[in-house]
Amino acid sequence: MYFGIDIGGTAVKYGIIDENFNIIEKASFPTKKDSDSELLNDICSAVNSFSSKYDFPYVGIGSPGYVDNKNGIIYGTSNLPFKKTKVSEYITDHTGKTVYLGNDANCAAYGEFMCNPLASEKINSVTLTLGTGVGGGIIIEGTIYSGSNGMAGEIGHMVIEKNGLPCSCGKRGCFEQYASATALIRLTREAIKNGSGTMACEMKDKIDKTDGKTVFRYVEKGCSDAEKVIREYAKYLSVGIDNIADIFAPDEIVLAGGITNEKDVLLKYVSEYFSGRCSLRIANLKNDAGFIGAALLGIKKKQKNVKDF
Ligand SMILES: [Zn+2]
Repeated sequence: MYFGIDIGGTAVKYGIIDENFNIIEKASFPTKKDSDSELLNDICSAVNSFSSKYDFPYVGIGSPGYVDNKNGIIYGTSNLPFKKTKVSEYITDHTGKTVYLGNDANCAAYGEFMCNPLASEKINSVTLTLGTGVGGGIIIEGTIYSGSNGMAGEIGHMVIEKNGLPCSCGKRGCFEQYASATALIRLTREAIKNGSGTMACEMKDKIDKTDGKTVFRYVEKGCSDAEKVIREYAKYLSVGIDNIADIFAPDEIVLAGGITNEKDVLLKYVSEYFSGRCSLRIANLKNDAGFIGAALLGIKKKQKNVKDF
């Protein structure tokens, strides 16, 4: 059995999976943000409560921000209390378990990769998480690629529009300004303000209630304003996907995140603009990908076709 933890800005999700990667039990608790030791104590309690019921060899942990797996340190982000915190050492001291750490987007990508029944054929994959921003996880020859400093895979900050929209990273025209769920909501609100179709008529007075699902609802109703929004979004998303396909030539690109629940509509429009140079699919694991991928950090999938060069 394997045990994984996905540390998020609002909740910490964790769970145990069996050798076939089926979830046996999962749970969550709110993320304490005031001090790193409080958050670590909650994590240790979760580990200890599961280790009294299940036998697992190590603890896998995914966290946002810069995660130094070699030294067991999480540097943290604005949403978490970690400040160069020695996470592995603390958890091992309080639970007796070895700890593997990973960046959360990499863990989600690894979960998708490992749990894909075709993973032994598809050993190179890139997962894009379309959420508040755009996260990226790169798997090369069955292994997470994290670069020389652990920071690889920041695909959301690849520039796709010179002098484009400003980004929180300080650059302009980053992919996530056009392909995140936030970007889709921005485009939807602009269309509601300026449009005259069903979506504009029905949503003008409750524009603040617009979310990532709104536009899909009106595409299904045949609203032409909504269709324009989806086309604009799909064009930008496809620019990024095409760049990834050209750079990595992966076996597949996987799209994850809440808006991919609308997978039929999303794939229909994206496939109109995407060159199709590799296969593209929607993630299977949804919200559980993070802790499942973390749980699997200590093992490698058996591969059928690792190439020898
Ligand atoms: Zn950026």
